[in-house]
Amino acid sequence: MPIKARDRKRNDARAAWHLHPHLRRMLPCRIARGKSIGGSWAARSVYYTGDFMARRKKVYEGKAKILYEGPEPGTLIQYFKDDGTAGATPPNAAVDGKGVLNNRLSEFFMSGLNAVGVPTHFIRRLNMREQLVRMAEIMPLEIVVRNFAAGDISRRLGIPEGTPLPRPIVEYYFKDEKLGNPLVAEEHIVAFGWGNQQDLDDIIALALRVNDFLSGVMMGVGIRLADFRLEVGRVWEGDFMRLIVADEITPDSCRLWDLRGLEAPDREGLTREPGPLADVYTELARRLGVLPSNVTHTTKPTLIN
Ligand code: ADP
Ligand code: MG
Repeated sequence: MPIKARDRKRNDARAAWHLHPHLRRMLPCRIARGKSIGGSWAARSVYYTGDFMARRKKVYEGKAKILYEGPEPGTLIQYFKDDGTAGATPPNAAVDGKGVLNNRLSEFFMSGLNAVGVPTHFIRRLNMREQLVRMAEIMPLEIVVRNFAAGDISRRLGIPEGTPLPRPIVEYYFKDEKLGNPLVAEEHIVAFGWGNQQDLDDIIALALRVNDFLSGVMMGVGIRLADFRLEVGRVWEGDFMRLIVADEITPDSCRLWDLRGLEAPDREGLTREPGPLADVYTELARRLGVLPSNVTHTTKPTLIN
């Protein structure tokens, strides 16, 4: 049965409302006005093959990704760039081919999570650098799960890097780069209306399930997941709201340590400590078997300033 124009308008308006405010402001008027593009499968396929692809609207450009409006209301296309590299000096340096690998890796983790019943924004990969995702109203938080001390928590609490934590610790950081993404408490989140107590319970449950899944997958290929960060967003299904995992799961959002080759003590007879994974994008993709076969990728990423 065809969707009534009134219902479609309502759905589009709702989809627009779910968008993070900085995205909503930049929303193309086609969606904001409640006009869908691609009402049929035929029209939708045109979107990917012809004119639409060239004419589609950019919604947001961040450090690592570009968001375009999707073919349906409530969807977005994520384009993975080569910039915005994890732990790079200078920050935001590009690594050749990183976007291609991150697109595959995020697809791999997100579809794995979907398969075990952890809801994510991932719908399907479209091509080498792009994937179709559900548009979500992103909470202004970075949710960090830590299994081993490193980085911020080591500095803040004076815990040596590499120390196993007594249990996974979930932290929240306010997503505002000008402020340096400061750590915030649940109190701030509730007081400023970013989420309520139920959201916080849901976020912790979600974050811990993602942690178990990712830790297990990484362990299977000889990698320790020291910590990672997530973004979560709201989506509505009918009148029900739920939180889903959004943004990306890639080496740019995970701290990964190599566990391979640690068995033999080093020359001084000391046991080796796990260190960062060298050539992390390629190596992770290789170990997980998600290296795209038709890409000629340098084994050593070239740093481009
Ligand atoms: P940034 O430089 O802000 O980290 P990125 O280059 O990572 O940006 O681009 C991704 C942007 O898209 C982020 O602001 C993120 O919050 C947003 N985003 C990710 N997934 C979704 C989604 N499913 N719906 C809406 N916004 C999303
Ligand atoms: Mg980002």
